[in-house]
Amino acid sequence: MPPKDKSVTTSSKSATSDTPVQFVKGVGPRLGAVFANRGINTVKDLLTFFPRAYEDRTKLLKISEVVQRASEGAKVTVAVQVASIKKIPTRNYGKSILEVRCEDPSGSISLKWFHAPRGMEARFTPGAQVIATGAVKVFMGRPEMVHPEITWGMSEVNVGRVVPVYTELEGVPSRTFRKILWEAIQKYRDTLTEDLPERFRKLHQLPALGQAISAIHFPEDEKDIQGLVDFNTPSHWRLIYEEFLKFEYLILRQRMNMEKASAPAFGTDPGLSALKDLTQSLPFQLTGDQQKAIDEIIKDITQPHPMNRLIQGDVGSGKTAVAFLTAGMVLAEGGQAALMAPTEILAEQHYRNAVKLFGGKLNVLLLVGKTTASEREKIQAKLASGLPLLLIGTHALIEDPVVFKNLVYIMIDEQHRFGVEQRRALRRKGMRVDPRTGKTIHPHALILTATPIPRTLALTAYGDLGVSTIREMPPGRSPIISKVIQGNARGSAYETIRAELRKGHQAYFIYPLVNESEAEGFTSLKSAVVEAETLQHEVFPEFKVGLLHGQMKPDEKSTVMDKFKRNEIQVLVSTTVVEVGVDVPNATIMVIEHSERFGLSQLHQLRGRVGRGSAQSYCFFLSHAKPAEATQLRLDVMEQTNDGFQIAEADLKIRGPGEFLGTRQAGALPFKLADLVRDREWLIKARDDAQTLLREDPDLELPEQLPLRRYFEREGKLQFERLKTS
Ligand code: ADP
Ligand code: MG
Repeated sequence: MPPKDKSVTTSSKSATSDTPVQFVKGVGPRLGAVFANRGINTVKDLLTFFPRAYEDRTKLLKISEVVQRASEGAKVTVAVQVASIKKIPTRNYGKSILEVRCEDPSGSISLKWFHAPRGMEARFTPGAQVIATGAVKVFMGRPEMVHPEITWGMSEVNVGRVVPVYTELEGVPSRTFRKILWEAIQKYRDTLTEDLPERFRKLHQLPALGQAISAIHFPEDEKDIQGLVDFNTPSHWRLIYEEFLKFEYLILRQRMNMEKASAPAFGTDPGLSALKDLTQSLPFQLTGDQQKAIDEIIKDITQPHPMNRLIQGDVGSGKTAVAFLTAGMVLAEGGQAALMAPTEILAEQHYRNAVKLFGGKLNVLLLVGKTTASEREKIQAKLASGLPLLLIGTHALIEDPVVFKNLVYIMIDEQHRFGVEQRRALRRKGMRVDPRTGKTIHPHALILTATPIPRTLALTAYGDLGVSTIREMPPGRSPIISKVIQGNARGSAYETIRAELRKGHQAYFIYPLVNESEAEGFTSLKSAVVEAETLQHEVFPEFKVGLLHGQMKPDEKSTVMDKFKRNEIQVLVSTTVVEVGVDVPNATIMVIEHSERFGLSQLHQLRGRVGRGSAQSYCFFLSHAKPAEATQLRLDVMEQTNDGFQIAEADLKIRGPGEFLGTRQAGALPFKLADLVRDREWLIKARDDAQTLLREDPDLELPEQLPLRRYFEREGKLQFERLKTS
């Protein structure tokens, strides 16, 4: 009895998908090292080393047939017999050209190798059967294949099917990988653990894991090579959907947990009546979307659980007003609130706005880098006293000495400009332990962004947040006229600009770089510094031109900004410092130089600096004399639409998620196969199914969900932790 038991254990142990890759037949230590360099360590990793292309070898052709198709240049496969071989020495010492003449009943063909490896010719004995795959050329009236891929004898791996083509790693040919993968699949496909609950697999009619993997490498009946290349077959969907489902489960679970954590409840009286008061005292009426966002916030913070809400809307749509009003509500109930903005210019502007709109009614303070020591002391004393107040500032807010007694509401403007750590730091300022229950109490958090988040990202990277959207712009703003202008056609733009300036309006000129030394190799880029001079002396001598860039000191920047606001400067030449939030309604012209160098969402943000008053505004996107076609198409989007949401979707397609998340965050998206743009349909299905799981079996305890639970226990949640927005 015991011996039998033992043999069972060893054999089942030897074939698991966690087996190190070097034990797969045909791999060994050398290739194992090549794989390890690519992060392929186990059989499971190997099985997801997917082909980069496929070749249709379902049909073996006759020589006469391939000759007819020679002009197409496509790879074909012939089964032939070796007739004779010839070695032609070259002047290159030790090298020779190898020519193997082959035949079939329909004709003859030459297989040729320049620099044939030593000893290669020995395998081509006359009469041998070989299968050759390659492109056919006709050379001096005779058909030939140069450097064909050779298969000896008939092999089900290489012939009579659609065969996979792998990326060559360190000179190891695709053919070798094909053989290794064939072996690995035969041996290990049935050992792969199935994590996906069967009900969802059935629901979406998806194949089992082993079957899917096998069919991606060696398609059985899938003749649709294009589908394979495009990751668009049921086998691919199966893997894509699984990645999405796992991710959505984790992120929605995170949200659920946050919803269970403790926070002080607000949003009853006297807060509600204060909110009403403040709203009525505004010089304008809230838009429907602003009101809706406020209602959503109230609904969140009347719960004893932390709000975690994103509010998105184009520049100027009135997000900050929503933030202020809801802060006023919290203050009226005795809480402290903080609004953090990414730049000093923006923090100051928020502060001035808050004072203008609510001065006397709300206690508003400003804390930025240049705040004096004595002023800081006063602020800190107030924070420590627990006095209800709204503190507006830059990342100065998250420095150590800043201690709130009762921070219950945090707001982060342009959140993508902060790192995860900075956002967490602000949150921590509002976390405390409840002495009665020992539980941690969290602050409510409102995150503001003027870069609309494409839906797919809202479901993934931002999936742990509730989202409020402001689409409706405050009334009385006329749509901006946008024009893409190439190369030397800028003269006409200058005419429009001059006419606007004469009417008393103002203009922005935006440059990608401060000076040319910042980007060697892009010397054709005009620097803001040089251009400011040119514009002042040669183009608009009768107006005052000012300069603003990131390398200036904060107080120099504010001085220039103040002058622009007071219309002492009519033309503001700037790098992208003005991108964020600046509000000068009298500015009606935006000129963006080298607009091809910006992302669409960024261009849209820049454009949002104008069109803030009732006067007609213009935006000129200047680009190279002859932009590449793709660039032209991209810029055309800007001409065609003012809708930030459409632009965000287009931008995601063109530049990927990095544009929205920052590259580090985007790199943390744990998708190997899935693509947010291409596979969005599957993402939405996965999100719905993850919701079902969390509703019906949140801890994955039912037998059919156990494998998924085991997966999470095994793999941990590292990837995911890096991605959390809080
Ligand atoms: P955002 O933060 O979305 O860029 P703001 O809240 O700063 O927008 O609003 C931009 C400008 O519009 C501010 O001057 C603000 O006072 C004003 N504003 C906000 N809401 C309205 C509204 N409903 N009607 C008219 N003006 C508004
Ligand atoms: Mg804003």
